[in-house]
Amino acid sequence: MNFFERRDGDLWAEDVRLADIAAAVGTPCYVYSAATLERHYRVFIEAFAPQPVFVAFAVKANSNLAVLATLARLGCGADTVSIGEIARALKAGVPASRIVFSGVGKTDAELAEAVRLGLHQINVESPAELDLLGQVASRLGARPSIAIRVNPDVGAGGHAKISTGGREAKFGVGPAEALALYARASAHPNLAPKGLAVHIGSQIKSLAPLEAAFGVMSGLVETLRAQGHAVERLDLGGGLGVPYFNEPEPPPPSDYAAMVKRVTAGLDVALEFEPGRLIAANAGVLLSTVVRLQDRPDRRIVVVDAAMNDLIRPAMYDAFHDIQPLSGPAGAQMTPADVVGPVCETGDTFTRDRPLPPLAPGDRVAFMTAGAYGAVMSSTYNTRPLVPEVLVRGDRFEVVRRRVEVDELMALETIPDWAR
Ligand SMILES: *Cc1c(COP(=O)(O)O)cnc(C)c1O
Repeated sequence: MNFFERRDGDLWAEDVRLADIAAAVGTPCYVYSAATLERHYRVFIEAFAPQPVFVAFAVKANSNLAVLATLARLGCGADTVSIGEIARALKAGVPASRIVFSGVGKTDAELAEAVRLGLHQINVESPAELDLLGQVASRLGARPSIAIRVNPDVGAGGHAKISTGGREAKFGVGPAEALALYARASAHPNLAPKGLAVHIGSQIKSLAPLEAAFGVMSGLVETLRAQGHAVERLDLGGGLGVPYFNEPEPPPPSDYAAMVKRVTAGLDVALEFEPGRLIAANAGVLLSTVVRLQDRPDRRIVVVDAAMNDLIRPAMYDAFHDIQPLSGPAGAQMTPADVVGPVCETGDTFTRDRPLPPLAPGDRVAFMTAGAYGAVMSSTYNTRPLVPEVLVRGDRFEVVRRRVEVDELMALETIPDWAR
């Protein structure tokens, strides 16, 4: 559920008309609903109640400081994949003790910084990383808490590019190797193995693959304990999907929680989760303005001012975003249209043959469900500066990332004398 809705023909974010934001801030711009972010976090936590669970929001889904701060205020932690994301989480008010550091390519310097900060947990993805972390921790005289990321050989996700749990994926180690790594970490004086972690993919719309993966994890916890190791935590990753449109709805958090409780019953481990999309996707929209109609005899083509550099999901994952006019009467005649951006790539097509109401230059539309993997994946391709981000709470809104100017982009560059 989210707090974007149509009232008397206009689309609102909480108690702000989106057309008013578009007029004040300009388009393209992202708009996030604080109440929706909060609701999604709470619904997830409450699905497990009375069992306490630790939720670390996957910062890569939406790393805007105001979004992170909104969640941090509720006690939400942060799952991070770079030193940059750790810096953002800290700045937004997430304490180091609630930050998880994941990712296959952590460098020596990044690991050292993570150890110095005393993060909640470093998720180790390979034997080589374990050895490096052991050396870094010894050098610093520290003993970081770690989890071993397991690749359970269960892939899942809405697209091949967002499946991470199959044998061929680059993430984690297989179950047998995880047991060996855990033993190695336990024997290391500067490593504190706390548990196991798994994340098999994103936009998962069925519980079956998750249940299979979590079953593997439960078995591993039991095996490790039988071998005499303490296992306190089980980090079950993110990945639960969201409804992008009229498609089969993913299971609700309550069904997900019931499944997790069933699979982990009797284990007595602290459960941790790293949802990104589930919390942020339906909490954000991308506003855009129709620039021109480029109709052909056989096609209706609507050119908008947003492009693949602002929202790459359709180009990268063939993703579907519902497109809603910001204003207009209900029941308008729908006819098929292509919606495209101005970037010089055929891939800069948001949709083809989508039934849409009449649209004219200057009309505004919202790309729905754009709060996750939207602004964070944007680039400045075609020298299109990053667009503003706006946070709404109740009847207030504020620009939480300002528009970048072309001059600011060029200021990063120099022309050597010898190139003139
Ligand atoms: C991307 C990612 C997540 C978040 O995935 P969502 O599908 O957005 O919930 C969680 N954990 C790890 C390790 C990830 O890479």
